[in-house]
Amino acid sequence: MNYHFTAEPKEASEHTKRAHAALRSYLDFEDKEDFELAQKGMLLQKESLTIPGNDPRQPVWDLESYGFLKGDCPETVNPSLWRISQLNIIHGLFEVVPGIYQVRGYDISYITFIKGQRGWICMDPITSMETARAAKDLLEEHFGSCEITAVLYTHGHNDHFAGAKGIIREEDVSSGRIKIYAPEHFLETAVIENVYAGQAMGRRAMYVYGSFLPRSPKGNVGNGIGMTSPLGTSSLIAPTNSIAEDQTVMIDGVEFQFIMAPGTEAPAEFMFYLPQFKALCTAELTNASLHNIYTIRGAEIRDAKAWAYGIDDLITRFGDRTEVVFMTHHWPRWGNSVCREYLENQRDLYKYLHDQTLNLAKLLFDRCV
Ligand SMILES: [Zn+2]
Repeated sequence: MNYHFTAEPKEASEHTKRAHAALRSYLDFEDKEDFELAQKGMLLQKESLTIPGNDPRQPVWDLESYGFLKGDCPETVNPSLWRISQLNIIHGLFEVVPGIYQVRGYDISYITFIKGQRGWICMDPITSMETARAAKDLLEEHFGSCEITAVLYTHGHNDHFAGAKGIIREEDVSSGRIKIYAPEHFLETAVIENVYAGQAMGRRAMYVYGSFLPRSPKGNVGNGIGMTSPLGTSSLIAPTNSIAEDQTVMIDGVEFQFIMAPGTEAPAEFMFYLPQFKALCTAELTNASLHNIYTIRGAEIRDAKAWAYGIDDLITRFGDRTEVVFMTHHWPRWGNSVCREYLENQRDLYKYLHDQTLNLAKLLFDRCV
């Protein structure tokens, strides 16, 4: 059998070592600002984090298995992936600003809780019921009993809605006690990606995320936007309120200015600005990495130009009024100039990808004729 295609983990090849060394000298690994930002506002942290599921042999979520990340980056791992995994493993309950809180490190994505007049508004109840419930338990450990009055799904990827039944009851949604807000076409797009293509994409996702690989410097190290996808139970509660256009909606006494971003990171997606907090939520349009335009797991292809223009629109409309940017993967940015610079850099990433793809395609064509 060809050596390269066995399941046995192996040492880094000379080529891999050279590529990793080149990256190590290209990026500034002495810059620790992200580590400060990722820990800013921490209110509560469990000493260790393992979330059990139905199978006693296999926890749904186990950060303890990533203990090896405390060491220096070995030759088998891309140093940038090692660094972002050290950031993604930081877990706990965090205050974004007084009134906005996030539980991080309990899933591949973050769950956000916003204090309303009567109770709590939950944005993006993560991937599995078990991890969502554990995150809400952490919130309640700090604040006491927290009644959920509304839920927001920013988009139809399952790491943003599938844990809903872990924190709310479907009866409370059908009775009208809890409203669920989602962008127009959320359900169709969620079904297309998670049901029609679900089985194929789920299998590809297992390869992409390495969910079943042993955690080790030669196995699963993390996947950039988070550690990995949790195992556990998925759920879906259909939204009750569809947001179809840019509009302002009062939700449990909090003013949400919704900004639509269809056809960007997801086919249906919204972001929002909260004037009371001078806070901008970019959903998953921005984070601390660069998204794939064509995902390896097979999600619908993304439009880098629409994406760049979506972020540019945010800067034009809310740039002067924003004091904090928070998102659904990765830690927030604080301070107006820092927020602006962060948004501009993220915008430019996608615009550059778009422009250079066309530019290089043209050059290639010119050479062929
Ligand atoms: Zn996500």
